[in-house]
Amino acid sequence: MATFYEIETKYGAGVYYKQPVAFVRGQGATLWDADEVAYIDCTSGHGAANLGHAHPKVAAALAEQASRLITLFETYPNDQRAALMQKMASLVPGLERVFFCNSGTESVEAALKFARLSTGRAEIVAAMRAFHGRTFGALSATFNKKYHQGFEPLLPGFSHMSYNNIEALDKAVTEKTAAVILEAVQGEGGIYPASAEYLQAAQRICHERGALFIVDEVQSGFGRTGKMFAFQHSGVIPDMVCCAKSLAGGVPMGATLIGERVQQIVAGAHGSTFGGNPLSCAAALAALAAIEEEDLVAQAAEKGEYFMEKLKVIRSPLIREVRGLGLMIGVELKQKVAPYLKALQDRRILVLNAGMTVIRFLPPLVITYEQLDRVVAALDDALKMELEADDE
Ligand SMILES: *Cc1c(COP(=O)(O)O)cnc(C)c1O
Repeated sequence: MATFYEIETKYGAGVYYKQPVAFVRGQGATLWDADEVAYIDCTSGHGAANLGHAHPKVAAALAEQASRLITLFETYPNDQRAALMQKMASLVPGLERVFFCNSGTESVEAALKFARLSTGRAEIVAAMRAFHGRTFGALSATFNKKYHQGFEPLLPGFSHMSYNNIEALDKAVTEKTAAVILEAVQGEGGIYPASAEYLQAAQRICHERGALFIVDEVQSGFGRTGKMFAFQHSGVIPDMVCCAKSLAGGVPMGATLIGERVQQIVAGAHGSTFGGNPLSCAAALAALAAIEEEDLVAQAAEKGEYFMEKLKVIRSPLIREVRGLGLMIGVELKQKVAPYLKALQDRRILVLNAGMTVIRFLPPLVITYEQLDRVVAALDDALKMELEADDE
């Protein structure tokens, strides 16, 4: 009989690096493979499972809403959507409007379109190492050439400046700039938190020059960094905030939060068939309620500090730097991380890379301290084992 791996490798489009281990069940920070072997998940579906897997409140909300109303175009108002809009409006002072969609790249796409519409300007300034998604607009804002290859020409009007560099930002933003788009913590690019001064300068320079300030919180949002949104560590208020991943507890959903400086958005200007569907809205309401009830934002801050401290204690000549914010942590090695990801997987720990040399930890915020200890011990062990193998 063919394995799930063999079937997916044969029939999938081929755009993913598939692992031979298949997962069929999850709870909290644990995933079980088809043979009921438990793994600690430090990937959270790239940040979609901040609440942990199969959260009971999200599952119940989905079941309840699925038998009431699944789909309804936004032309027609709906109880779940209206409640979620009110909830979203309360998350960031001044960002009272929201556009719902289905993914991170769509939330970025909407922000870019709204920026051009609002300012009548075409140019978008993004950062080096930035990742904003894979549709053409978001891809044009994404920096890594690896994601561009074979898809050119991308959209005109996009440029990339060095990140966390106020001087470069000051040079890049002109009277032609529609928007600056930044991740508050660069995720795919290697886990680089923005400094507070940098985000504050971005806001000030955008305001001075009539540009809009967009923050992409797709990976860093919903408690991940120890604040609801990572930019809240810096005291800024962006003009638009891109959300997705953990917004609806793992159910596909994106949202673009919109502030007062964004104008000209009129009926018919943009839209999405599935955007704001009652099913996803019900899941998001349950997810946001669970984040509050379980105090997951504070949990991320506390566990992140604990985890970071433990990681920093690992004595290995292979480690160049441990950095991050809350439970968004990167361990940069002096060499390629691929063999260590494999070694961790062999020890039943799932982690991500971020580029070639960074091991990325994005555990569900409900991960236990005992699980974090096991992750640290496994990494310590993996780094040692590989060293011994190298010595032989
Ligand atoms: C994952 C991600 C995206 C894209 O989200 P998708 O749902 O995969 O389209 C955009 N921006 C950032 C910062 C991300 O991490």
